[in-house]
Amino acid sequence: MAGDRRFEGPSDLHLHSVHSDGTESAAQVMAAAHRRGLRTVALTDHDTTSGWAEAAEAATSMGMTFLPGMELSARNEWRSVHLLAYLFDPDDAGLRAEMERIREDRIGRAERIVRSIGRDYPLTWADVVANTGSGATVGRPHIADALVARGIVKTRAEAFDTILHPRTGYYEGHYAPDVERAVSLVVGAGGVPIVAHPTPSGRARMMPLDLIDRLIGTGLAGFEIDHRENTESGKRILREVVERHDLIVTGSSDYHGLGKPNQPGENTTSDDMVARIISLGTGSRPVYH
Ligand code: AMP
Ligand code: ZN
Ligand code: FE
Ligand code: FE
Repeated sequence: MAGDRRFEGPSDLHLHSVHSDGTESAAQVMAAAHRRGLRTVALTDHDTTSGWAEAAEAATSMGMTFLPGMELSARNEWRSVHLLAYLFDPDDAGLRAEMERIREDRIGRAERIVRSIGRDYPLTWADVVANTGSGATVGRPHIADALVARGIVKTRAEAFDTILHPRTGYYEGHYAPDVERAVSLVVGAGGVPIVAHPTPSGRARMMPLDLIDRLIGTGLAGFEIDHRENTESGKRILREVVERHDLIVTGSSDYHGLGKPNQPGENTTSDDMVARIISLGTGSRPVYH
């Protein structure tokens, strides 16, 4: 394997652009990663592959290796589960249909949240549209940006702590496939599924261990353990699971431009793990510089 390697670390495989809820263009995200010294990167916008071409071009022109990726919205009962997917076929019909269904439902959901907020605050759907990239996967961060633009809150973080917090009553979920189905769709498209920030604190919490075992049976490849939102206790449990099943472990920033404090390269994935992802993925290829 080692002889086949044409990429170099450090690697950060979880970055967002304006194609979903990051604040920078795909090329700007790649430039930010490059400035931070990264050599291998992936673009993982929520439920879309629309940034791949621009990101691949920018990354390789700066001498970095690019892995096509996505963060697919999924769920386990009431939990929102984010599934990172790498090197899948972007034209796979089953996966595409599901991505489109999620993106479509996210629009109606965001409109309903905004209508409900609009009863108490001067916020309209037009404000959100003005703060969302054309064709982007819409999410609460865009509503947060509209609230900031209207002067109702100061930052995305404040919006999430207040008006967008589930406890305030404006919150609504969106359609997302059950996580077992999400894993099998990614595998079916030749991709490598890895659970993003699998052990957050608070409401989301970690998936039950028996479900994790079933997901591994379905083809789950690993866990993003080094991520600032994971709890220490959850990381310890997952490291044992990973060890027992010889799974992939990743570390990444989840950079969202100015939308979050996370900086490219604040966590990285080892060369060995990147090599395993590359050798497992059959739906698309890395783009080498
Ligand atoms: P949604 O999928 O529409 O419910 O929105 C979830 C997105 O909001 C995720 O991509 C997070 O990165 C982002 N997010 C969650 N909490 C915060 C926060 N406190 N500040 C900024 N972005 C956040
Ligand atoms: Zn996001
Ligand atoms: Fe996420
Ligand atoms: Fe993310």
